[in-house]
Amino acid sequence: MGKEDLAGYDDEELAEIRRKFSDAGKAVASVLKDAQKLVLPGEPLLDIAESLEKMIADLKAKPAFPANISINDVAAHFTPEADNKAVLGETDLVKIDIGAHIDGCIGDAAITIDLSGQHGKLCEASEAALEAAISSMKPGVKVGEIGAKIEKEIASRGFRPIENLTGHKIEPFLLHAGVEIPNIASSASYELAEGDIFAIEPFASAGSGRVADTSQVEIFSLQAAPKIRGKYARQLMDHIAQNYLSLPFAERWVSKVFNSKLTLSASLRELLNSGALHPYPVLRDTGRGAVAQKEHTVIIEHDSAKILTA
Ligand code: MN
Ligand code: MN
Repeated sequence: MGKEDLAGYDDEELAEIRRKFSDAGKAVASVLKDAQKLVLPGEPLLDIAESLEKMIADLKAKPAFPANISINDVAAHFTPEADNKAVLGETDLVKIDIGAHIDGCIGDAAITIDLSGQHGKLCEASEAALEAAISSMKPGVKVGEIGAKIEKEIASRGFRPIENLTGHKIEPFLLHAGVEIPNIASSASYELAEGDIFAIEPFASAGSGRVADTSQVEIFSLQAAPKIRGKYARQLMDHIAQNYLSLPFAERWVSKVFNSKLTLSASLRELLNSGALHPYPVLRDTGRGAVAQKEHTVIIEHDSAKILTA
């Protein structure tokens, strides 16, 4: 939210928005701290996701998107289905990526938990990249220069940054507000401005450093409101619009809207085919290498970036 994005807000409203971003960030930080205790071998993924989302609600915030639990070579966008029975394995590399919002003011952060103890260097690569990136952020810095810092930290440790995943600008109710922060050096020329809020998320890969869509999709967001023919699909679209606006939601979250699982999947399919929904397929490293991620949401201040999710 640089100056241009804030036309129309007076000082008092602006202070209120910043306070909500700050509180949402603190909620995310607190939940991620407790996540360490939940992420253990043998724990059901569904229990972990539901606990994380409940912990966000207990802090008077709402999940800004479903709790992502992406394991090993899966980089992002997995959240367990309503009937998922899987448990964490003894040696899983687990990325926990969560978001909380207060009236649309979003905090987005992620950590990686290495149950094997074998991926210390990979985790360190994403952590060092995040640290270097954040310490370089201040007004006037170009996003492509931040990508160069990320790439250098990860490559110098013998890994690859995931080049087709990026950080992103955040605005009220907009998780991806148009501007991206690449994880590699690039000529992207957007200059950070005071008041901007960004999620920054270096992914370090022991594989190819590229992700591709898998056929699995558990997360969607409403992106348009076309005319929908089916009665149930229309009902589902209204439910999504009322509860999540355009923020991402899980199929699991809407699994109780209808009694029938078939009605739900047919309605989701109709909304997808009509262009009402944007799908977020589960993303996997194309070289099938392990992936670590670390993410914070920051606000650009006069001469630095302040971490909101710490
Ligand atoms: Mn995230
Ligand atoms: Mn993010």
